[in-house]
Amino acid sequence: MPGILNRFLKYVRINTQASEHSSTYPSTPGQLDLSRLLAAECRELGLSDVSADSFGIVMATVPATVSHRAPIIAWLAHVDTSPETSGANVKPIVHENYDGRDLVLPGDPSKIIRVSENPALRDLIGATIVTTDGTTLLGADDKAGIAAIMTAAEHLVAHPELPHGPIRICFTCDEEIGHGVDKVDLEKLGAVCAYTLDGDGQGMVDCETFSADLAIVTVTGINIHPSIAKGKMVNAIRILSQFLSRLPMDTLSPETTDERDGFLHPYHMEGSVAKATVRIILRDFETPKLREYTALLESIAADLRKAHPRAAIDIQFVEQYRNMRDGLDKEPRALPKALAATRAAGLEPRQTIIRGGTDGSRLTALGLPTPNLSTGEHNPHSPLEWTSVEEMQKAADVLVALAVEWGKENE
Ligand SMILES: [Zn+2]
Repeated sequence: MPGILNRFLKYVRINTQASEHSSTYPSTPGQLDLSRLLAAECRELGLSDVSADSFGIVMATVPATVSHRAPIIAWLAHVDTSPETSGANVKPIVHENYDGRDLVLPGDPSKIIRVSENPALRDLIGATIVTTDGTTLLGADDKAGIAAIMTAAEHLVAHPELPHGPIRICFTCDEEIGHGVDKVDLEKLGAVCAYTLDGDGQGMVDCETFSADLAIVTVTGINIHPSIAKGKMVNAIRILSQFLSRLPMDTLSPETTDERDGFLHPYHMEGSVAKATVRIILRDFETPKLREYTALLESIAADLRKAHPRAAIDIQFVEQYRNMRDGLDKEPRALPKALAATRAAGLEPRQTIIRGGTDGSRLTALGLPTPNLSTGEHNPHSPLEWTSVEEMQKAADVLVALAVEWGKENE
């Protein structure tokens, strides 16, 4: 069995499902188990500066083989899996010499990975596909990324004749619940740029994400028993529903947009007569557009204040993350090097945009330019998740080529 498959199968059997209902970091103890295993594997490989802290953050260095001062780059992947589908007792199924047919998952035959819905399978006839048994997620998101990084590190250690600079490896926790970079010490990481290994398929370089803000609209009304409410009650629920009905539905909602369109998306509301709130996310690839969306929400609030002078209507805006593109310019070599490495690994690179955020968009906003690379994952967060050994190996090949590409540079 190829080394990368062995590694992957070992990692997915450890339950690292993140939990939103936890007050610890990382949110679940299984993440620490995988972190400790990875730190031990890094030591076995002979990597230097291996550390694993109490937050489960693992760092290690593949030492340089060139004598000039090449820039330090970093490779990142997250150990946790999504809270959306169980990650306990994952029973990975290895389909060798894939024959091109739909894959029926034996633990739940109602779960079928259909070729019609997974066109990438058409290019993988003869390959080794790994699926779940249909009862859990697989965890290729992001253990395919971890397996690619460890395999690339192993390759570099075994081939000291390959010229490269220092590579920092970093495994993070709780990415799936939005806390992937909370505990990452960027100074300790010490890289000029980084790459997250957390993308779909193969050959893709994600270099743009949404810019994102959150609006929390709160309507404060006046409650009184309905029997004596005439002229006294101000119902926050009714006013908030008027607010929501004035959000554009045909043009600026996720249900009606795709590609480069932005949107306003109310995703959670709660309330009673006295007080009602709704949380609305604002998304666009063009950061200045967020100001237009903010202005739109403010104007709806202003109108409703006039119509309901006894209600209080407040909007609180929270900045969430910014389009990765805005910060990639800080290290102009980050993206071209990823494209060159993808070509060197025999793939035609595709620059892709993500209608969401990645750890890379947050790291980029913090000053560490971080594009996202393919790992071979497909259908993340689902029992229909799958990957292939060949795509994971390509991800590792891209990393080795990336190390060599950066080894040509000077600090
Ligand atoms: Zn992921």
